[in-house]
Amino acid sequence: MLDIKITRTTEPKAKPAAGQKLGFGKIFTDHMFVMNYTEGKGWHDARIEPFHNISLSPAAMVYHYGQEMFEGLKAYRNPENGEVFLFRPDMNAKRTNDTNDRLVIPQLPVEDFVQAVSAVVDVDRDWIPTEPGTSLYIRPFIIATDEFLGVAPSKTYLFMVILSPSGAYYESGLAPVGIWIEDEYVRAVRGGMGFAKTGGNYAASLIAQQKAHDAGYSQVLWLDGVERKYIEEVGAMNIFFKIAGKVVTPALNGSILPGITRNSAIQLCKQWGYEVEERKISAEELVEAQKNGTLEECFGTGTAAVISPVGKLRYVDEVMDINNGEIGPLSQKLYDTITGIQTGRIADENGWRVKVG
Ligand SMILES: *Cc1c(COP(=O)(O)O)cnc(C)c1O
Repeated sequence: MLDIKITRTTEPKAKPAAGQKLGFGKIFTDHMFVMNYTEGKGWHDARIEPFHNISLSPAAMVYHYGQEMFEGLKAYRNPENGEVFLFRPDMNAKRTNDTNDRLVIPQLPVEDFVQAVSAVVDVDRDWIPTEPGTSLYIRPFIIATDEFLGVAPSKTYLFMVILSPSGAYYESGLAPVGIWIEDEYVRAVRGGMGFAKTGGNYAASLIAQQKAHDAGYSQVLWLDGVERKYIEEVGAMNIFFKIAGKVVTPALNGSILPGITRNSAIQLCKQWGYEVEERKISAEELVEAQKNGTLEECFGTGTAAVISPVGKLRYVDEVMDINNGEIGPLSQKLYDTITGIQTGRIADENGWRVKVG
């Protein structure tokens, strides 16, 4: 158990007005969680403080070699009774430690991570929006803070959790997106850090994202980094296909981020009686399936959008329209079920909700 010292703000900010468009990641709450790590001492000085800028040496290691990690999860408030829930936060805590291992960042006990997130969400619970599709986005992250330009793991770190009230990902409802299958740049390779949630993976992705945007597509779908043949994942989402009645998604191979929404979608589909295959899927297989009419649905899974139906996939010279650019029934059912569990509207048979406070 962390002993968390709480200092409340004496100058609370104005909260967004009801009905105000929140967007994503632009508004921050009154408080943040902070904890230090020092070699030989471990994690120490757990505290909740007013949200404020931090000061670091320009030589702080995070600025130079990118030794950092982050997580992303959400809190939901039930509009009727005010109950606040997190969705599977222990999974984010475990993934934090997998990322930390890869980046030589010290381990953070799972229960401390969950306690830190719960505590700061509880302090700012009045910031959680309740309109349909809205939530409190939670961003835990760790940065290397040694003042040192040598290339080595830092001996000091900061763990912080900041909170951002966020709007419905698709303001006009679930809308199918167009996705660009990238055949030039790659995101990650096996042996690299594709499975880790770290800024460097995103820095590497920006150029392809820009290219896809310029071509009129909203996101990039990455191919494997070795053969540039097999489907991996979308920018910040895992990808699923429904082919001839079966649910198919790329197997976790070390270069794909193991999404918690992915894991939940697989579990639900199996519980609903679908055959689920986690395996290699080539882009050519998708082109074939689309041509012979068996590519029934395609959707992305991730915390931000939960389920993101894909209406169009571009691969080299092929533009595949999926389900006539409309939301498929499985995509809709997964969206309704997962968001229903998250907000407390429907029964949580898998024990995924964690109550705050
Ligand atoms: C966070 C992330 C995902 C989705 O993971 P969730 O746990 O479902 O939010 C997928 N791909 C990448 C690259 C990510 O960073």
